[in-house]
Amino acid sequence: MFPRVLLSIVPLACWGASTMPPEADQHLAHDIYKEMVEIKSGYTTGATTPVAQAVAKRLRAAGFPESDIFIGGAIPTKANLVVRFHGSGKLKPILLLAHTDVVEAKREDWSMDPFVFTEKDGYFYGRGTSDDKAQAAVWTANLIRYRREGFKPDRDIIVALTADEEGSGPANGVAWLIKNHRALVDAEFCLNEGGRGQMVNGQRVSNEIQAAEKWYLDLRLEVRNKGGHSSLPVPDNAIYRLANALVRLSQFGFPLKTNEASRAYFTGMAKIDTTPFRADLAKVAANDLPAMRRIAAASPAWNSMLRTTCVATMLEGGHAPNALPQLAAANVNCRVLPDDSLQYVMDTLRKVIADGQVAVSITNQEENSPSSPLRPDLVSAITRVTDSMWPGVIVLPTLGTGATDGRYLRAVGIATYGVQGFFNERDDNRAHGRDERMMVRSFYEGQTFLYELVKALAVTAQSR
Ligand SMILES: [Zn+2]
Repeated sequence: MFPRVLLSIVPLACWGASTMPPEADQHLAHDIYKEMVEIKSGYTTGATTPVAQAVAKRLRAAGFPESDIFIGGAIPTKANLVVRFHGSGKLKPILLLAHTDVVEAKREDWSMDPFVFTEKDGYFYGRGTSDDKAQAAVWTANLIRYRREGFKPDRDIIVALTADEEGSGPANGVAWLIKNHRALVDAEFCLNEGGRGQMVNGQRVSNEIQAAEKWYLDLRLEVRNKGGHSSLPVPDNAIYRLANALVRLSQFGFPLKTNEASRAYFTGMAKIDTTPFRADLAKVAANDLPAMRRIAAASPAWNSMLRTTCVATMLEGGHAPNALPQLAAANVNCRVLPDDSLQYVMDTLRKVIADGQVAVSITNQEENSPSSPLRPDLVSAITRVTDSMWPGVIVLPTLGTGATDGRYLRAVGIATYGVQGFFNERDDNRAHGRDERMMVRSFYEGQTFLYELVKALAVTAQSR
C-alpha cells in the first residue's frame, strides 16, 4: 500500500507548489468571482454597475486611494470600473481588460440556477464563470495582491472592468472609455479575453494568445421591381434576381491567405496535431496554396482563419401570394480578415454578384481591427511562464474569427492580446450556452499564470 499512497501524493504536491496561488489569495479570488457571478449583469436585463461598485469597495478596503478608482459609463446601469496601480513610469502602462456583462441565462434552460455560484465535481458553474468573470475576478485579486506584497512595477498597471461586450451595444464600456476618458485607459498594450488554454482528453496541449481578430460587416442586398399581377409574370423578377445573386455568392470563396498570427497558429498546430492533416498544416504556414485549400475544406474554423467570408443569413421579399414581388432582400454577414479593406470587400462582392440591379448597402460595420504584432517580449514572457507551469504545453498564437472588445483598442493603436491561461477541454466551450463552467483547478492556475505574466511584463528587462 505504501508506494501507491506515496505516488498519489508526490505529483499533487508538485503541481500544488508551482501552480497554485497562496491559500489566502485563492480565497480572495474565489470570493470576488462568486460575488461577480451572483450579480445579474445580463446584457439586456441586467446591470454592470453593482459589479463596479462591489469591486471598488474591495479596492478601497485594500488601500487603493479614491483618486485611483474611477466608476462611470454611458448610462447609469452600465458602469465600468477603472483602477490604476502606479509604477515608476519607466515604461508606458499596461491595460488589463475584462468585461462584466454576460449573455442572458434562463433558470429553466440550466441544470442549476445560473446566477448562483456553484462548485460541483471539480467545476465552478454559473453564467460568466468562463466568459468573462474569471478574468475580471483574477485581475482584481492579483492587483490587490501586488499592492499587499509591495510590488514596484516599472509601468502603471491599469485594470478596466467594462460593460456590454456581449452584443456590443450602445453602452459598450471600452468604446465609451476611449471616447470620453482616453487617458484613463491609454496603454502601450492590453491583455484581454479571446485566448484559451486547450485540453484534449484531459491533457493540456496549448496556451493561446489571440493577436488578431476578424471584423464584422453586415450588408443588405436589395432588388426592387415594379411588380404586377402574378397571373402575368415577366422574366424580370426581384426574387429571381436576388436568388441568382445569392447562388453566385454561394459559389464564390475569397482568396486564401495568411498573416503573422495565422502563420504562427498553423506552425504551432503542425506540432501538436495528430491527424493526417499534420503535414498540410505545416505547409499552410509557408503559403502552399494546395495545402491551404485542403485545410480550408477540412474545417469551417480553419477556413474562416484563412479567408474573409460572406454568407447569406436572412431573407425577405414579396408582399402577397398573388403579386409579383416589388422587393427582395437578403442580409449577408461578412467576417473580414484584418488586412482586407471595406473597399476591397465591396468591390469583390459587386463583381461576384455581377448584376447592377442588385443594390449593395452597408447596414452594420464594426471597427476594422488591425492585427497586433507578436511582440517578442510578450511571446517570450508567455512562453517562460507557460513552460514553468505546464512543461510541454506550446504557446499558440491565434487569429480570432469572432470579435471581442479588443477591436476598439486595436482600432486606436493599442495592441491587444487575448491571453488567459484558463484551460478547458477543446470541445467543452460552454460560453454563451447552458451550464457554463470553469474547472476549479484551471481557475486558480490561471490566477497564478496571469499573476506571473503581468509581473514579468510590468518591469524592464534589467529588473527581471
Ligand atoms: Zn467575453
